[in-house]
Amino acid sequence: MLMRAHDWTRSSLGAPGEWSPALKTVVQILLNSGHPMYVCWGADGACLYNDAYRRSIGPERHPGSLGLPARQVWDEIWDEIGPQIAQVMSGGEPTWHENALIPITRNGRRDDVYWTYGYSPIGDAAMPNGVGGVLVVCNETTAMVDTQQRLLAERERLARLFDRAPSFLAIMSGPKHRFELVNASYVRLIGGRDVIGMEIAVVLTEAVDQGYVALLDGVYRSGKAFNSTGARFAIAPGPGEPAVDRYLDFVYEPVRDDDGTVTGVFCEGHDVTEAYVAQQKLLALTAELQGRVELAVRASEAALIRLHEARRLDTIGELTGGVAHDFNNLLTPILGGLDLLTRKLGGEPRLQRTAGLALEAAERARVLVQRLLAFGRRQTLQSRAVDLEALINGARVSFERAVGTTIAVTIDVAANLPPVEIDPAQLELALLNLGLNARDAMPGGGTLAIVVRRSGDDVAVRVADTGHGMAPETLARAIEPFFTTKAIGQGTGLGLSMVQGLVAQSGGMLTLTSQPGAGTTVELRLPVAVTAAVAATPALGSVPDGTGAVILLVDDEELVRMSIADGLRDAGYTVVEASSAATALAYLHGGGIPDALVTDYLMPGMTGTALAAEVRRSLPGLPILLITGYANLEPDEARGLEVMAKPFRQHDVVARLRALIDRSSTLHATAAS
Ligand code: ADP
Ligand code: MG
Repeated sequence: MLMRAHDWTRSSLGAPGEWSPALKTVVQILLNSGHPMYVCWGADGACLYNDAYRRSIGPERHPGSLGLPARQVWDEIWDEIGPQIAQVMSGGEPTWHENALIPITRNGRRDDVYWTYGYSPIGDAAMPNGVGGVLVVCNETTAMVDTQQRLLAERERLARLFDRAPSFLAIMSGPKHRFELVNASYVRLIGGRDVIGMEIAVVLTEAVDQGYVALLDGVYRSGKAFNSTGARFAIAPGPGEPAVDRYLDFVYEPVRDDDGTVTGVFCEGHDVTEAYVAQQKLLALTAELQGRVELAVRASEAALIRLHEARRLDTIGELTGGVAHDFNNLLTPILGGLDLLTRKLGGEPRLQRTAGLALEAAERARVLVQRLLAFGRRQTLQSRAVDLEALINGARVSFERAVGTTIAVTIDVAANLPPVEIDPAQLELALLNLGLNARDAMPGGGTLAIVVRRSGDDVAVRVADTGHGMAPETLARAIEPFFTTKAIGQGTGLGLSMVQGLVAQSGGMLTLTSQPGAGTTVELRLPVAVTAAVAATPALGSVPDGTGAVILLVDDEELVRMSIADGLRDAGYTVVEASSAATALAYLHGGGIPDALVTDYLMPGMTGTALAAEVRRSLPGLPILLITGYANLEPDEARGLEVMAKPFRQHDVVARLRALIDRSSTLHATAAS
């Protein structure tokens, strides 16, 4: 409206009545249009515009701009529009721009304004180039552009989020599951493959083989989501690499269009392989721990059983030891008497044979009792430091003879073994017993291996056979005295019990390992000796009989004393008998000077060792032989005394005594010279 009221005479256009028809027509259109338009007319481009345009340019340019040259009005954007006006005015092409940024100052500030606009010539034949002016039809699109840019930024942000999501994401469309969109995690999962635009069955054959495509088909068909946890998916981590198991938690969600028709499947999930593997390890660890606890419980149960077993064996040992001791005392006079009888019955061969048989039986009884004593740990041991290699090699021949030719014997003794503390004769007997057991277990032949090794503070002697082995029930009772699986007359059940007794009494340990059909191993752990090994005592030389030496014999048991005395007298000694220590001392105080003292250990009143100590005071060099029924002598008590275990044969005691007297007289002779 202002346009109509404007005083145009001041502008280069002059009064409207004189305007060219072309200008009039254009202004007519412009004023009737709701579309923002303006016109630059003539050489200086005087401006005319409508209300719609006025709203776009802000309050400060109106109405001052009406009729002013365009250059003056739009100085701030002249670089942009000036050339366009010039182009059109000079008869050039009209211009057209969409959503172009042309910032202008309006409402007091510079605004980033977007325009869609075109500059068109207004023909006027009377004007230069036939162009009277430029019609500008323009539309501000700032709001639309802003919205578009915001949407674009949001899209980019979402795309970034999608791509950077820690979970793997993929969108597949159509019944063949063509990949539309996958994020970085998904690409990582499938080993860096480029899958966009491709059908899953073509680019991810693993998914077909492992049943995942069938699942996708199901979701696409049914429209029902599918969930899975810890699903295994074997896929190569990179091109040309072997497949690796991954464990996935994932969901397949159907994607629907506006009608609700399923158009694709959205896949979202996590690679939980590490957690899965850790869990599996934890499970394995738990199971192992459980196993260990069970083992420990079983081991302690086994230890309890062993303890019980050891106690039981101890009790049996106590009993057998006691009984054997009494037997011993009975056997001594029996053997002594029979010995004497056989010698005295020289001219009576029939009687002599009878006595000989009795002697043989008594001798067997003696061996039996000795084994019982061994098991009861009551035998008298002549322990000393023993070189095992020498002992085993020395025993080899008799050992091999005992087991027979069908059994191969191998011996393997480690070099530089320390000596062990044991009674060598008893150990030899023990090894022989083990050898006989092995022989009995290998009726068809086999191998018997003796291996000796250092084992901590002990030396371990292992005797292993390849025989029939033992059932658990047999193994549990094998050591027990009198336990045997052998026929009457073939087994006494005293072999292993003797070995066990010897080893235990020597401070060692016996272990039996056996399984039916898998042979048997017996291990003896023997303590290392604190002293150095000494060579075996040389065999006694033969000493003439009838020395006439005087023996003071002290024993409270008359039967025993008499039988020993008989034997000694028979061997040419003069025997002075005393029934107690007191009687013996009385004899000595009365001026008696014996060549040797033989005394029982356990007697009422004064023990044999006490008597020996007393005698030594007046007769320091006197040979003394202590006879004892069992080995409960304190080592201190027995120190410096010769000890002999009951029962014994007459010739044993005679030989021992003779050696003693010999040695002391040699000593005297040496001292005198
Ligand atoms: P015996 O040999 O007189 O039977 P032992 O005390 O030596 O008595 O052995 C007891 C039992 O232990 C035997 O009867 C046998 O059943 C079993 N035994 C011992 N040693 C072996 C072995 N090397 N192989 C298989 N069984 C054995
Ligand atoms: Mg045996």
